[in-house]
Amino acid sequence: MNDKKAELDALKLIVGAEHLVPYTEQKYGEHSRNPLATMFPKTTSEISDIMKLCHINNLKVTVRGGGSSVNGGVLSCGSDIILSLERLNSIIEVNKIERIVTVETGVITEVLQKEVEKYGLYFPQNISSAGMSFIGGNIAIRSGSPKSFKHGTTANYILNLEVVLPDGQVIWTGKNVKKDSSGYNLTQLFTGSEGTLGIITKAVIKLIPLKKEWLFFISFISINDMYNFIKEVLTLGLNPSSIEFLDRKGFELACSYLKDMRMIVNTGFCIWMEFETEVWQSDLPELEIMNQLIAKYSNDNALFAESSREREELWKYRNKIGEACLDYSEFVDYDFSIPFSVSQEVYEKITAILEEFNFEGIIVGHIGDGNFHINVFCDKSLSPKQWESKIYQCFMMITSVIVNFGGSVPGEHGVGYLNKKYFNLSVGEKQIELMNEIKRIFDPKSILNFDKIF
Ligand SMILES: Cc1cc2nc3c(=O)[nH]c(=O)nc-3n(C[C@H](O)[C@H](O)[C@H](O)COP(=O)(O)OP(=O)(O)OC[C@H]3O[C@@H](n4cnc5c(N)ncnc54)[C@H](O)[C@@H]3O)c2cc1C
Repeated sequence: MNDKKAELDALKLIVGAEHLVPYTEQKYGEHSRNPLATMFPKTTSEISDIMKLCHINNLKVTVRGGGSSVNGGVLSCGSDIILSLERLNSIIEVNKIERIVTVETGVITEVLQKEVEKYGLYFPQNISSAGMSFIGGNIAIRSGSPKSFKHGTTANYILNLEVVLPDGQVIWTGKNVKKDSSGYNLTQLFTGSEGTLGIITKAVIKLIPLKKEWLFFISFISINDMYNFIKEVLTLGLNPSSIEFLDRKGFELACSYLKDMRMIVNTGFCIWMEFETEVWQSDLPELEIMNQLIAKYSNDNALFAESSREREELWKYRNKIGEACLDYSEFVDYDFSIPFSVSQEVYEKITAILEEFNFEGIIVGHIGDGNFHINVFCDKSLSPKQWESKIYQCFMMITSVIVNFGGSVPGEHGVGYLNKKYFNLSVGEKQIELMNEIKRIFDPKSILNFDKIF
């Protein structure tokens, strides 16, 4: 069947004509492509039929979850089918005794979080895009969150996956068991595979009992004070769930965006340190020692929040930074991970590189687990071509520093389409060759997420 119209007609029969929208153009920043159509299947079996047909006809397919990824992963590769998972949105079962939830992967992250909380359970991945990302997208990217410092990334909570393979076969990657030593871990192979190996249609996710949270906002005049404070917290054996960071410029932008300049006084390097206790505990055991450390390093420049309203008030300066940057000016972002113990040195090298290029930017991130984001504001004095070339040189220089210090690029945003150049520098040649071989085993015709990762 070579005729595209005949292929589209056959695809319409699978999902119903109303769930296939012919598309003429898809835009992603500067990139523009023309997919054949976007499809909105409702079931695994429909997705399986779509993939069987596409496999036979060598028709490329690009998977789309919530579309919130910042790496171009959902960008059409041209003349492909965009497979939207938004109708795969059922929460199938919450099992309170097993502490697991079984979901279709088009469920919005926040909907899942709220549903399990009704059972006294908690999915400890408070990803900032929870209102728009799908759980399947988080699994496909292996995304992280402020809670990753204590709880690891989404990957740590995935127990079992239902996957439609590129030729339409459907498999479960494992069992719903907490221990399993039966061969290679296919569940973790699909987790983070960015839709290049298969379409994840259902997921069984581990949960933990709901926690009570306590938040400190602390500001430091010098970066040394901030790092010494965090190091002492960690060496004393305290166990925060999140340690988040915003530099001075970022904090000023957030305050100005929120039209609240009261917080600016005496702030320099800002961190948010959150702790968790069991819901029935009325005190935070770490409170006294935290107060002593704050007095030692931060001249008491700190705030403490207990109720959820108070915590939201304090978190908003950190959480609104993306919007504040967008409001300020157009920017490009860069995401990396390094071991915490070298992160101060790397931070100083990066700020020196940004200065060398005369770039205005902010650094924000999950300092506890060493995952940072750099937002660099576009230099409007340059032509688009000059800007693109200069930012490329700057990010390549930063990538070399990160790789030399044992870090990874990207850190939590996935490779997708836009981060390939940094990924190629960050990961060894042999490792990339092995990954390519794995891709060939699952998708020999390379029809799924065609130009992503590699
Ligand atoms: C405001 C904002 C805040 C953000 N905060 C964070 C953050 O705190 N932490 C973080 O890690 N990221 C963050 N991100 C990035 C993004 O939200 C995450 O990468 C998220 O996990 C993407 O989920 P999604 O459903 O939107 O995926 P999409 O963008 O739809 O897809 C992402 C990739 O996964 C593939 N894919 C999607 N679903 C499936 C599936 N079911 N099976 C196979 N492949 C699939 C797609 O083809 C694509 O390559 C943020 C983004 C924004 C805009």
